[in-house]
Amino acid sequence: MQTTTRVAVIGGGVVGASVLYHLTKLGWSDVMLLERSELTSGSTWHAAGGFHTLNGDTNMAALQGYTINLYKELEEITGLSCGLHHVGGVTLADNQDRFDMLLAERAKHRFMGLETEIVGPEEIRKIAPVTNTDGILGALYDPLDGHLDPSGTTHAYAKAARMGGAVIETHCMVRETNQRPDGTWDVVTDKGTIHAEHVVNAGGLWAREVGAMAGIYFPLHPMEHQYLVTEEVPLIAEMMADGKEHPHVMDPAGESYLRQEGRGLCIGFYEQPCRPWAVDGTSWDFGQDLLPNDFDKIEQSIDFAYKRFPELERAGVKNVIHGPFTFAPDGNPLVGPVPGVRNYWSACGVMAGFSQGGGVGLMLAQWMTQGETERDTMAMDVARFGDWITPGYTLPKVIENYQKRFSVAYPNEELPAARPNRTTPMYDIFTDMGAVWGQQYGLEVANYFAQGDEPTYETPSFRRSDAFAATAREVKAVRNAVGINEVQNFGKYRVSGPRARAWLNRIMAGRVPAPGRLSLTPMLSPKGRLIGDFTISCLAEDHFQLTASYGAQAFHWRWFLHHQEEGVTLCNISDQRTGFQIAGPFARKVLAACTRSDISDMRFLDVRRMTVGMADCIMQRVSYTGDLGYEIYCDPMSQRALWSTLWAAGQPHGITLFGMRAMMSLRLDKFFGSWMAEFSPDYTAAETGLDRFISFKKNDDFIGRAAAEADRDKGPARRLVAFEVDAEDADVQGYEPIWLEGKVVGFCTSGGYSHHAGKSIALGFLPSDRVGENPDVEIEILGQMRRAKVVTEPLFDPEGTRMRG
Ligand SMILES: Cc1cc2nc3c(=O)[nH]c(=O)nc-3n(C[C@H](O)[C@H](O)[C@H](O)COP(=O)(O)OP(=O)(O)OC[C@H]3O[C@@H](n4cnc5c(N)ncnc54)[C@H](O)[C@@H]3O)c2cc1C
Repeated sequence: MQTTTRVAVIGGGVVGASVLYHLTKLGWSDVMLLERSELTSGSTWHAAGGFHTLNGDTNMAALQGYTINLYKELEEITGLSCGLHHVGGVTLADNQDRFDMLLAERAKHRFMGLETEIVGPEEIRKIAPVTNTDGILGALYDPLDGHLDPSGTTHAYAKAARMGGAVIETHCMVRETNQRPDGTWDVVTDKGTIHAEHVVNAGGLWAREVGAMAGIYFPLHPMEHQYLVTEEVPLIAEMMADGKEHPHVMDPAGESYLRQEGRGLCIGFYEQPCRPWAVDGTSWDFGQDLLPNDFDKIEQSIDFAYKRFPELERAGVKNVIHGPFTFAPDGNPLVGPVPGVRNYWSACGVMAGFSQGGGVGLMLAQWMTQGETERDTMAMDVARFGDWITPGYTLPKVIENYQKRFSVAYPNEELPAARPNRTTPMYDIFTDMGAVWGQQYGLEVANYFAQGDEPTYETPSFRRSDAFAATAREVKAVRNAVGINEVQNFGKYRVSGPRARAWLNRIMAGRVPAPGRLSLTPMLSPKGRLIGDFTISCLAEDHFQLTASYGAQAFHWRWFLHHQEEGVTLCNISDQRTGFQIAGPFARKVLAACTRSDISDMRFLDVRRMTVGMADCIMQRVSYTGDLGYEIYCDPMSQRALWSTLWAAGQPHGITLFGMRAMMSLRLDKFFGSWMAEFSPDYTAAETGLDRFISFKKNDDFIGRAAAEADRDKGPARRLVAFEVDAEDADVQGYEPIWLEGKVVGFCTSGGYSHHAGKSIALGFLPSDRVGENPDVEIEILGQMRRAKVVTEPLFDPEGTRMRG
């Protein structure tokens, strides 16, 4: 056996095989795949082989489209058959919310180039005649849906990889992965030890065990899953006689997916009484095995299916497939470099290997061979979960995800499992004050504070929610008096040491501020993509605090560690620094009442250390609300005391608690972008306007400089603009298409309702050559065309006098 390789991919399921193929495709031929048994010996061999593009995350949906289109290429390269059946599919909607979700998906597909369409009951019966459409409002038809032969496809990937120079060792069990001091790996197998520069964990059902060999916890869990194959169904036999094949039918109400199999049907369920599998770990003895049939678990689902697909009742069950496969807490794959572990890559937690495997392989191979991916991969990045995640959290979340696989996913929905998990010292106090909690990166964050008869639970909706009035009240309090909320949900980092300033000048594209000042800056990838929007606070010449998105902590931390150098000490202090922000016209008066420091000369973007009440604080004059405001950071041990001080000092000024819903409305008044909406690795600084914070004047060769300069010189093809939308009861959420002169010319990044201005606002991209015209456009919201006009002047404080005053 070969004993050295550039990459050792552990696991020969569809995902490992795809990673191997994509590495060779991108030019790395010295790569090996190690499989303990035969290829496909985990979840892969017994999969139903279905594929589809539908995914709540737009980038995931695009990668699913890539995966599906790849199969033809594989067949052509290898001459092997993937057993493709491009039969198309319908996803049914039996109520308005489900239909709204499909309308929103269809709208997204317009700018993604996916040819889906909305069809009514009559058309559904024509396309998918086994369907009883009683109570069905409509469906989304996707011509790309279909199914394939799982084993044939995995072998096609493997053959294509071999043709590109890869080596595949079957019956080669990996027992240990030991890192050498230089960051390379000794991969110990039954056949000997392989020295590899990189290791990829594609261990599927055993990914947890493979991870543990390197001391890594992967947040995933296997679930049992069952599908049935029937004997001949007369209607299907008739269709076949006419040379037709029945398409897929996804019935979210029945939590089932159905397709033709031979002369019969195949139907699988995501049943509510579901069962996690191998809670304490996957046995190495499990091989190409199935679990015993369990009809009790799916009894209700079968009853429902008989009503939706009456033909099923006329056919006996020929075969039952009951097997396990893995899920991450949010159902998306875990892909990318594992934070803090050099040269260790994840390609696991892939619950839909035949829809997603190609995209996972492509993204990982780009990451490994080119240092970054061509698009934002946050939805599948292994770093979207931090080191706070534990098996105790993962299990209930995975169960929830399985149960909600076919549920409507609302933009304002807060999923309840495994909560509260991480809380600040304010949790009980805020709960008593009416906090309606949401969750961000495991942390409880107040969405709003219910007063009087305002709802204590925000009903999930695609339209304006029942938190509208409470949000309006909180916004008004900030704009007219003073509001207070927590600043726990910022990622915070301490950067210190003699080379701290030089390091920041290299990592950040913007200006690094002088002591006592702060600056805003984008962080760019080498290709000039936005990988962070940071505030840098200079506390001393060799001591800085950075703030950015709380949810991007592991993502940013991985980047920082990758670029760390001597003379710089880095510390993630996100949970060691907490505090509050106060904002609104009376914010200065509140602060002045509780500190002895003179704050009258504190300018916009100043930062100072000062005592507030009893608490030692870092005070920053800045606010995401766009108002006069202060961010006040303290140690969590002082947070309750700081709260008492600020709350008491605020009483004469009408201080009011506000939550994230109000915050997101307030930022829209100033068209401030938000991380993962306007600012994401899908966009460049010039496209989003963040280039105004890039310091091209500084002499430092910051990461992404050449790409940013090229973008500046050439000018981006699209630019972010703000729109006032003629909306009714639903505002823009993100990814709605923007129509101009009968064509889709752009899409929205986010939006909402400005309670201050009483207007529906959207942010989105227009082609640069149309931006100057300020054209009137239409935005498609839930299937309705809404007139929208470009707005260039902020809705609040356009001169910035309040913010800077
Ligand atoms: C009943 C059922 C139906 C499904 N239907 C569909 C469907 O219709 N469409 C769809 O897209 N998905 C479906 N899936 C999910 C799909 O099967 C998985 O997404 C996919 O198989 C995951 O592939 P993988 O390569 O990540 O993992 P696996 O298939 O589990 O492969 C992991 C491989 O790693 C090997 N391995 C592990 N540890 C080691 C080690 N230490 N040394 C060497 N080798 C090791 C294993 O032997 C195994 O071959 C279904 C799953 C089930 C259970």
